[in-house]
Amino acid sequence: MRVLVAGFQHETNTFAPTKAGWPAFVAGDAFPEFTRGAAMLERLAPTSLPMAGFMHDAAERGWTLVPSIWAGASPSAQIRREAFEHIAAMLLEDARREHYDAVYLDLHGAAVAEHVDDCEGELLARLRAVTGPALPIVCSLDLHANVGARLLRHAGALTVFRSYPHVDMAETGARAAGLLSELVGRGTFVTRSRRLPFLLPIHTQCTLLDPAAGVMADLATLEAQSGVHLGLAFGFPAADVPECGPVVFGHGHDAEAVEANVLALAENLIAEAASFAVELPDAGRAVARALRAAATATRPVIVADTQDNPGAGADANTTGLLHALLDAGAGRRFPGAVALGLMHDPEAAAAAHAAGVGERLPLRLGRSVRCPGGRDSEPPVQALATVLALHAGDVALAGPMTAGNTVHLGPSACVEIDGVRVLVTSGKGQLIDEALCRFLGVEPRALKLLVVKSSVHFRAAFATIASRIIVARAPGPMPADPAELPWTRLPQDIARRP
Ligand SMILES: [Zn+2]
Repeated sequence: MRVLVAGFQHETNTFAPTKAGWPAFVAGDAFPEFTRGAAMLERLAPTSLPMAGFMHDAAERGWTLVPSIWAGASPSAQIRREAFEHIAAMLLEDARREHYDAVYLDLHGAAVAEHVDDCEGELLARLRAVTGPALPIVCSLDLHANVGARLLRHAGALTVFRSYPHVDMAETGARAAGLLSELVGRGTFVTRSRRLPFLLPIHTQCTLLDPAAGVMADLATLEAQSGVHLGLAFGFPAADVPECGPVVFGHGHDAEAVEANVLALAENLIAEAASFAVELPDAGRAVARALRAAATATRPVIVADTQDNPGAGADANTTGLLHALLDAGAGRRFPGAVALGLMHDPEAAAAAHAAGVGERLPLRLGRSVRCPGGRDSEPPVQALATVLALHAGDVALAGPMTAGNTVHLGPSACVEIDGVRVLVTSGKGQLIDEALCRFLGVEPRALKLLVVKSSVHFRAAFATIASRIIVARAPGPMPADPAELPWTRLPQDIARRP
């Protein structure tokens, strides 16, 4: 069997400050850079991405892969029209030219372009115009997918990550191969779905903790009992499009069983909805709490700056928590044992590189950015900083979620201000791997307090080394409470919070 394979990844926060043009896909940042053809398979094989899991499983099944494109960019505001059209044109060109019996697409599921609300549904609709309605097509999706009706209609089957942090990406790709095999062997699935009438904040979608852990356990139980393939996408609650929010779906061969299990899972999630809403401390209170805990802790206390999470479209450059650390004298209390990262600030990184290791320079760190509700986040930090380490920014990752991936963060620096170490990068990256501290000379396990610009993914690598985790709410462009966003296109019957 010959399988056309392609990847397209973007999580779009339509409220975020910066759009994704074609150069963002060429660079990839958090994803492997753009590749096409045979190079794509080579580039993706050693990663932990769904495509790698699919490739491994496909090899065991003796399938031949026909590689098309890999195009992924870090989460941001809308994909620019020309970038999406370029990606779609390349995929369709390959789909017209090549010979294949089936298709696997490694998609995110929450991509919005300037001119397209549901990029994945649009891609599938265009692809179906080439392949016809009968060709088996399976797509894997991120847990944050905003699954649209067009995607459900045009895909033969979908399957979604079941963990956040996403430690099961490759496993999901392998599951997609299983679905494709079943689709080829037994023919079309019956598909049913339910859209849930609320949005879920991302920081409580963490499947290491209840209620999300319990809902995922329900999914596994229902699936095991019924044989129906179930999917649950929690949704990405910062996309001002009509189909934003959680969706449950199922595929199977017995329509009644599919319907009953989709309904059961949707009802379980509805019953748990209220426990997805959690109040968070502001930056000052979070730092005070963290310092109290750090005084007696033998392992680091971690504070998550969830509202500036670059994995959700923020630019990782707000300063609320850095100001709070400096105001509280955190670095004087635990000199050299307090760190914050990754602060995305190419100018500051360049200034540190120009100065050199050991030098002290006046530095302006971070930005004030416009936040939902029209407020601006805190001003940049202006202070004397000592350059402790410099790096070109190519970092091989080794954590449970990221092993095998390499990120290219560009010129990076560790600078110290009043005893607080700040990990500054030129590219945007989420602090989700211990290697992203160590490359700049900071040993995360030796810290008393670490502030990460991340909502949940950091837990994959850091939950086991932390004594305590505090999620904070410092002003930033990705509100922890989706109800704070200025929605204009979300249907009235979708509640802005659970
Ligand atoms: Zn995700």
